[in-house]
Amino acid sequence: MLNLIDLCQKLIRFQSTTPQDDGIMDFLVQTLDSLGFCCHLLPYTNEDGSVVHNLYARRGTDSPNLCFAGHVDVVPSGVESSWSHPPFAANIHDGAIWGRGAVDMKGAIAAFISAVKNSDHKGSISLLITGDEEGAATHGTVKVIEWLKEHNEVIDFCIVGEPTSDKLIGDTIKVGRRGSFSGILTVTGIQGHVAYPHKAYNPIPNMLKLLTALNAAALDTGYDRFQPSNLEITSIDVGNAASNVIPESIRAKFNIRFNPNFTRLSLIEHIQSTLNAVDVPYTLDFPKGSEPFLTSAHPSMDKLSQAIQEETGSSPEYSTSGGTSDARFIKDIAPVVEFGLINSLAHKVDERVSLKDLEVLTRIYKRFIDLYFA
Ligand SMILES: [Zn+2]
Repeated sequence: MLNLIDLCQKLIRFQSTTPQDDGIMDFLVQTLDSLGFCCHLLPYTNEDGSVVHNLYARRGTDSPNLCFAGHVDVVPSGVESSWSHPPFAANIHDGAIWGRGAVDMKGAIAAFISAVKNSDHKGSISLLITGDEEGAATHGTVKVIEWLKEHNEVIDFCIVGEPTSDKLIGDTIKVGRRGSFSGILTVTGIQGHVAYPHKAYNPIPNMLKLLTALNAAALDTGYDRFQPSNLEITSIDVGNAASNVIPESIRAKFNIRFNPNFTRLSLIEHIQSTLNAVDVPYTLDFPKGSEPFLTSAHPSMDKLSQAIQEETGSSPEYSTSGGTSDARFIKDIAPVVEFGLINSLAHKVDERVSLKDLEVLTRIYKRFIDLYFA
């Protein structure tokens, strides 16, 4: 079994750009197998034929079952020449391991496995590792949860190893997330020559009226541990390469991050009534989204907080900020929090994890495991 740093380097060296696997799940099976875990590889095929590799591994049969959830897929590295070290080389330089996935979140997986290696626990420890968190997220954790239900696998508490720390390792635990969904607004007119505007109908002014109304109203002022809900216009497009043509239609996109003051449905109703008040014809589509959630006070949250306090000297803040993660699916089957490395370099060029943070995180996970089963 590799030590912490070698394990982290080894994981980064698999080119598991979502949804590719590059052999990383087989490697995890070997590693966890050697630590006494019973491993279930759970591949599911995407609509496009690509296969998402997932793993559920459990050590022990008794309850409680403490689960660590995470993903081995990473976002694309971008232009390799922009990196100071090749993105999949996992070079050590300046006290850090450099590479795509170092903080999001192969480092946390290496830390948790290293923590488990040295723990003698009661109950069970499990790992739920997916390969499509950074992609469509349709054939990963969602499918594994269905499998867990079919096999009567109960998770009593789950910690997701996403990079939640803000400035210092251990300063933030995520205890919920805002809901998220996107909207696509289309206004149709009649295409024509700009010289004969009376023979055409320009959809752009109507779209501007609709977007002005959408953008005007604040949704709310916030909710316990949540930021205010927010609607952000993200794109306006007519696909018009010519300057002498009135376009036939215009499309705008927006995304909403919302707290439990709303549900997706109540927000859709709110948006529709705002747009209807403008009184111009439009069409509106809403691809699937996610609802907000908040993990209410749980003794295991306090134990995680205590573990962080003991290892770093300060207590973490409980936060719900940031983007979505697979915790939004896990919350349906178990109390879930997220805690991991510092997120400032996630998805960026020159992503890297400091060796010190990696070691501190391992000690926190180890201390948490001890407190959880005490
Ligand atoms: Zn992540």
